[in-house]
Amino acid sequence: MRKRLSVEDYTAGILAGDRIMLSQAITVTESRLPADKELAAAILKETLPHSGNAFRIGITGVPGVGKSTFIESFGTYLTSLGKRVAVLAVDPSSQKSRGSILGDKTRMERLSHNPLAYIRPSATGLFLGGIARSTREIMLLCEAAGHDIILIETVGVGQSETLVKGITDFFLLLMLAGAGDELQGIKKGIMEMADAIAINKADGDNAQAAALAVSAYQNALHLFPKADSGFPTEVLTCSALQENGMEAIWKLIREFEKTTRANGFFDQNRQNQNLNWMHDLIRQSLENQFFSDAAVKTKLTSLEEAVRDGRELPDSAAEDLLRTFRNVKS
Ligand code: GDP
Repeated sequence: MRKRLSVEDYTAGILAGDRIMLSQAITVTESRLPADKELAAAILKETLPHSGNAFRIGITGVPGVGKSTFIESFGTYLTSLGKRVAVLAVDPSSQKSRGSILGDKTRMERLSHNPLAYIRPSATGLFLGGIARSTREIMLLCEAAGHDIILIETVGVGQSETLVKGITDFFLLLMLAGAGDELQGIKKGIMEMADAIAINKADGDNAQAAALAVSAYQNALHLFPKADSGFPTEVLTCSALQENGMEAIWKLIREFEKTTRANGFFDQNRQNQNLNWMHDLIRQSLENQFFSDAAVKTKLTSLEEAVRDGRELPDSAAEDLLRTFRNVKS
């Protein structure tokens, strides 16, 4: 059983960069117990003024593209520059498959033993909304603990990309040469989200195909609208396995940061992310209140059935339920 520590204990430990304290605070943050929720909110409030100083990088790509291998190489490269790196994962699928990304720490064996790196596997058993909330809070705790770079890995399918894009400063898409976009399961929307595309596994027999893929993707990107960041999406190659291309990717990211800080996009983006976050919290809270309301619950099942059978139109059923909810509130 977890020992109960005070908010001050957690805060002091986190600010001192104590990994055990950080891990325990993260466990509290992921907990669904009401007492833990209160404690987590208090820890976050105390540590929040010390967060925000890290550069946040989202990394996506379909399973097998080499995300873990890339993070191992890139994270190790960053630590060789003296950077403190935190690695998080957003993986809604892990509810079903029990930790399909980062679940198994041996996938980043070397990095997990690096004193400058902190790896936190994806939380299991949370819904996307819960994952969004906890990932953002965990990121802030890692920043307060003194990490300079946050790497957030996500699978290249579904809503998790939007979520990660919504909390990071830079979004890197890993792709492979020789496979059509459809084959890679990457939607056009995800390519549009990317601040850079890295063609991974550019080694051995694959090196030439990777070089060709660069121009193919560059051409494809010409058809996309101009990036809001004012920084054109670049395509480069890398070999996560052979640790090639890490320096070039880091250089590109630093240029991106320099450009976007100078043109105001960096701050504007974070401000918008904060606003969106507030709106999300409002939506989540209203939704919880609505669906846990006793009067709504009484009516909900029968109205759901009526809508399913076509006896009631969805909009009038929704209006009826909302009226019930408003009457309770007023
Ligand atoms: P993930 O599912 O996206 O996290 O992919 P992994 O990092 O687990 O890599 C999937 C497989 O591709 C593993 O067998 C890796 O060794 C291999 N791999 C990853 N990066 C490279 C690379 O740059 N070159 C080559 N040749 N293989 C790689």
